[in-house]
Amino acid sequence: RRWGTGPAGGFISLAVRAPHAVGLVDELGELTWSELDSRTNALAHALRGRGVAQGGSVALMCRNHRGFVETSIAVAKLGADALYLNTAFAGPQLTEVLERESPDLLVHDEEFTELLSGVEGVDRVLAWTDEAPADGTVTLERLIGAGDEAPLDPPARHGRVVILTSGTTGTPKGAPRKEAGLSAAVSMLSRMQLRTGWRTHIAAPLFHTWGYAHYMLAMLLGSTIVLRRTFDPEQCLATVVDQRCDSIVVIPVMMQRILRLPAETLRHHDLSHVKAVAASGSALPGDLATAWMDQFGDTLYNIYGSTEVSWVSIATPEDLREAPDSAGRPPYATVVRILDEDGEALPRGESGRIFVGNDLLFEGYTGGGHKEVLDGLMSTGDVGRIGDDGRLYVEGRDDDMIVSGGENVFPQEVEDCLARHDAVHEAAAIGVDDDDFGKRLRAFVVLTGPDAADEDTLREHVKANLARYKVPRDFVFLDELPRNATGKVLKKDLDAD
Ligand code: ATP
Repeated sequence: RRWGTGPAGGFISLAVRAPHAVGLVDELGELTWSELDSRTNALAHALRGRGVAQGGSVALMCRNHRGFVETSIAVAKLGADALYLNTAFAGPQLTEVLERESPDLLVHDEEFTELLSGVEGVDRVLAWTDEAPADGTVTLERLIGAGDEAPLDPPARHGRVVILTSGTTGTPKGAPRKEAGLSAAVSMLSRMQLRTGWRTHIAAPLFHTWGYAHYMLAMLLGSTIVLRRTFDPEQCLATVVDQRCDSIVVIPVMMQRILRLPAETLRHHDLSHVKAVAASGSALPGDLATAWMDQFGDTLYNIYGSTEVSWVSIATPEDLREAPDSAGRPPYATVVRILDEDGEALPRGESGRIFVGNDLLFEGYTGGGHKEVLDGLMSTGDVGRIGDDGRLYVEGRDDDMIVSGGENVFPQEVEDCLARHDAVHEAAAIGVDDDDFGKRLRAFVVLTGPDAADEDTLREHVKANLARYKVPRDFVFLDELPRNATGKVLKKDLDAD
């Protein structure tokens, strides 16, 4: 039996390849791959003692720290599934998801105890406590301390990782990952410059496909994974500097928050040793890409993908300099097609539904249901076009698009236009019913300061830049936009009435 190329296999080969190299750094200190190996053996034995067996499952609700990584590895060593819960889920969402997935054990940080109080009948282990836990409390550290460090044999069945969609469009759905570590890694590396032995700061949440992808890549490359429990823009920069990180894994909203730090703070952090900044998880506005590279250098990659289809395309720093709004080109062994409503391929320049083929398409949601598949290519759920330059441009989600007076309108284009106005901090737009046009846009705007602009000014701004049917019918001013943990605006929480 072999360990395969999933979380357990990638990891175990590292404990052999580079036992004394530092595998992980977090607030508690450093762990070598060999220390992680002994600790996860002990944890696996202890979890088995609590009833986790091959084919079983363990749910994790943890921030970015060693407990997340160690639980994932220990669970994989047992041939059980790891279910990654999004730390921003609300109580009822969690209860619903956990009832559907019925894990054998729930490993969570102490801060989520209250939120998980509605979940009944599941054995629990605390992953992170802010203060020394009371006697008798079951924690990961105590299980590791009491466990047997003897190595385990590869299980007959390889454990899966089940990632949950973020639920911006309804109840979060579980998407199990196939074990295709090698092909995923080769595809990423075919367009991204990442090297063995680098130190990588994964700031993106580990429970999200994007954080998970880099955790898996680190297993292949033998990178040191540098983690901080939560994201704070200044602390992120300080970590990258102090830990001499070679690469950073982010989601666009983190980049935005970093760039909003005072100029003095930005100047104070010299990131010139950083060789790659990898962004994914939501659309990367062209202005943000340009501003980031002007500040930190041409090391930025924009990766377009999703939980279900893994990856679609990658924009390199060169792509982003020439076409800041683009999502780049498909990497190794990846096919991208733009199809019309009848499934026919559209020529360059024409907008349609984005389909992709690669070795890591998911095989259906745990609760049933699937994404549309045509001739082996899977729908991304997004609309976009391939430009004359051969690059992919993502225009927005299929279900976000509205038809206004017979014209297709993508809120994202209007949001980006509004965000370019000096008085606008951020903006989101949704379709609302309209007697004359069927649908019109309503814009939700966060201004840079009180009364920085009024409705008329913003309307004129959009009119001056976009077609008339794209101009929002009304504007709502908010203090902030509702967002999920990966920084996406929760459009269902914006008022359409
Ligand atoms: P849910 O379906 O529950 O709303 P989600 O789709 O938001 O979950 P993810 O799989 O993380 O969860 O999001 C993938 C989507 O995010 C893509 O389909 C696309 O709309 C958007 N996206 C991600 N990366 C990029 C990118 N680089 N450029 C443009 N859009 C992106």
